[in-house]
Amino acid sequence: MTPPPVPLGTFPTPLEPAPRLAAALGLGPEDLWIKRDDLTGLGGGGNKIRKLEWTVGAALAEGADTLVTTGAAQSNHARLTAAAAARLGLGVVLVLRGAPGASRSGNLALDGLFGARVAWAGEVDQAGLDAAAAGVCARLRADGKRPALIPFGGSGTLGARGYARCGEELRAQLPELRTAVIALGSGGTMAGLVAALGSGRVLGVDVGALADPAAAVVAFATPLTSEEVVAERLRVRRDQVGAGYAALTEPVAGALRLAARTEGIVLDPTYTGRALAGLSAAVRDGSVRPGEKTVFVHTGGLPGLFGHAAAVTAAEEGTEVF
Ligand SMILES: *Cc1c(COP(=O)(O)O)cnc(C)c1O
Repeated sequence: MTPPPVPLGTFPTPLEPAPRLAAALGLGPEDLWIKRDDLTGLGGGGNKIRKLEWTVGAALAEGADTLVTTGAAQSNHARLTAAAAARLGLGVVLVLRGAPGASRSGNLALDGLFGARVAWAGEVDQAGLDAAAAGVCARLRADGKRPALIPFGGSGTLGARGYARCGEELRAQLPELRTAVIALGSGGTMAGLVAALGSGRVLGVDVGALADPAAAVVAFATPLTSEEVVAERLRVRRDQVGAGYAALTEPVAGALRLAARTEGIVLDPTYTGRALAGLSAAVRDGSVRPGEKTVFVHTGGLPGLFGHAAAVTAAEEGTEVF
């Protein structure tokens, strides 16, 4: 039996029209909507809250007193796990890639503010992070604690349930929805939307976090839907990864400025900036068309902008001193 979710966020999130951004992309003024999942509330908001409601719900059901999770140094998921732990009075250890550096900005500043302890794992891959997290859990147990390990990005079939709920909100808010566009990282967000809306109505823009993101989406979504989810039928774009997860590309820098200067909406350089660059490419190649209803799912990530030096520099481009 699936343990119940623990309420952490503020739902449903708003769905707002984006007519100026639509026109800039080559869509009609009523074609484009933004699902404000950056406004989920707790800890600065973002998509990880919906997944944490389920994964932390399971941790509480097991009697956990400390949350442990893994991620990149600027992980939004790690920041929101820390906020969830604070809200619930739990301990939290974040196992992060890299070493303690000069910069404590962006998400790292908030991790500290929420009282999280950070275990630096060095320049390791996900298997290395998982091994470090297992070591942290063993140490906590030796200290008499009851740790619960939240998976990378909070993703899995359990976390994806949170995004099936988002898909249901979208169905009620915009029944004519043709395409929901999202950044595809660890896969749980896309998996939940696919479970609720069907493979054909979700466009995932890969950010380069996984070697085979479609396989993750298939694995997480399959238990949640009667549809036979197969990789070939998923709509996944892999043209926005660029030089890798942490690198800023010119299309992404342009997407950050475009959203900010047409709608006053702040995107981030790793996820939502790539998602908008991918939507722009999809309009150009005809896979998203004028006259159809498109939803851009804003999954949050604002603190990551301040943790990304190249993005901060690119933000000002084209502005003049008055
Ligand atoms: C993690 C994240 C995503 C991707 O979600 P996944 O479920 O990991 O695929 C998208 N946007 C932001 C801002 C994120 O932090």
